[in-house]
Amino acid sequence: MAESNRHSRGQNPRDARYDIPGVQRAHGQQYIQEPTFYANSNPASAASFRQDPPVRRAAGKKQPRRRSPGKKKNPLRRIILWLVFITVCLSVALILNTNWKTGCSVIPDTTSATAAGTSGTGSPAGENTADASSGGNTSYTEAIVFSSDTAKPLYGKVIILDPGHGGSDSGCIYPAANPTLYESRINLLIAQKTKAYLEAQGATVILLRTDDSWISLYRRVSLAHLYCLQYADQLGINTIDTEDKDRLISELIDSIVVNSDTADNGGMGIMAGTGVGSELSLLMDMESNLTDVMYLSIHTNSNEYTSLHGTQVYYVTDDSIIASEKDLPTEEPEYANDPSFPLRGEYYGRNGDRNALLAEILYDAITASAPQMETNAESTWSDNYAVLREHNLTGALIEVGFLSNKTDRANLSDADTLDQIAAGIADGCVNFFASGS
Ligand SMILES: [Zn+2]
Repeated sequence: MAESNRHSRGQNPRDARYDIPGVQRAHGQQYIQEPTFYANSNPASAASFRQDPPVRRAAGKKQPRRRSPGKKKNPLRRIILWLVFITVCLSVALILNTNWKTGCSVIPDTTSATAAGTSGTGSPAGENTADASSGGNTSYTEAIVFSSDTAKPLYGKVIILDPGHGGSDSGCIYPAANPTLYESRINLLIAQKTKAYLEAQGATVILLRTDDSWISLYRRVSLAHLYCLQYADQLGINTIDTEDKDRLISELIDSIVVNSDTADNGGMGIMAGTGVGSELSLLMDMESNLTDVMYLSIHTNSNEYTSLHGTQVYYVTDDSIIASEKDLPTEEPEYANDPSFPLRGEYYGRNGDRNALLAEILYDAITASAPQMETNAESTWSDNYAVLREHNLTGALIEVGFLSNKTDRANLSDADTLDQIAAGIADGCVNFFASGS
């Protein structure tokens, strides 16, 4: 399911997840259980508040032995103890120093360590070896490493893959009681397979979630922004001056940190409120020119109309977002009255046609590779999704199929189908870039 998650502290004021074209949004019985995403705190967060039980001395435990007053001190023993103490202190200092050196300017989060893909670190290879000579600081994410095979169709392309949900947020599940199918797991499986197919075509893939861990929507977008800054620095095409860039990086990292535990703590940083603030506009403007970078979010759908089946690809345009938000201050007065949700100007710099074309090409490629995933609903659909709205990369959100449909469930439980879907997504990327768009 796609969460629109427009503004608020994790609440969905107007969730578009059931807006299937031609199907009236219905409320009532839920065929698929709603995710417990917002109800549960992240286990990692909960663990940090857990306290160890107080240590009690066992009854009858022997008291520490005291040195008898007249006993002589052993000078050799003292020297050995001091040597051990000094060695331990030096070791701790060395470890702390090493961690500080490697961690001070990198996103303080394990995701960043894995988000750069499997290519390791170091200078990019091939033509794209520009470093921070443009004045940029390239150490806030892992360096983006390009393949060395310039003949591959996706050489030089960077695909940010976002497997939806994860951890305590399982997305849609089936059946509601004792589920055997979890959207979060299907999304990750397909994303991992897609990564392999894309890399085989020469792409650099950044996987935003590599295991079953929870990661907030805004943290995903903040990571994408940071990688865009990194990418632009490496290629020497960053249009944001150093002062603004440093401030943006600091705010994006803050946003990641604040959004590292639960979805409802309001830490959206530069993405707070409706519309787009001036700071976010700087990024959006720059990203509109990063035509070799793409953001793909992978989800699995559900609907109470269980006959609906197949893949759909969602995208955003300025119009789809503005239409969806224009009545929000009236419908949700909290946005107009709460200073933490400022009402800001709409952004008119998205290339909606490009996004729409990508969605169409992706749908065609996925269903060419996996014909069993053709849909009986609209194949592409534009609306307002946080993971597409809050950046300005060419992007799409792929709902691979419906867990609420029996045939789709069988297909999405089949490894061959997942493989075909992944291959289709990669084919779609190749086709899209080959189209010259
Ligand atoms: Zn989803």
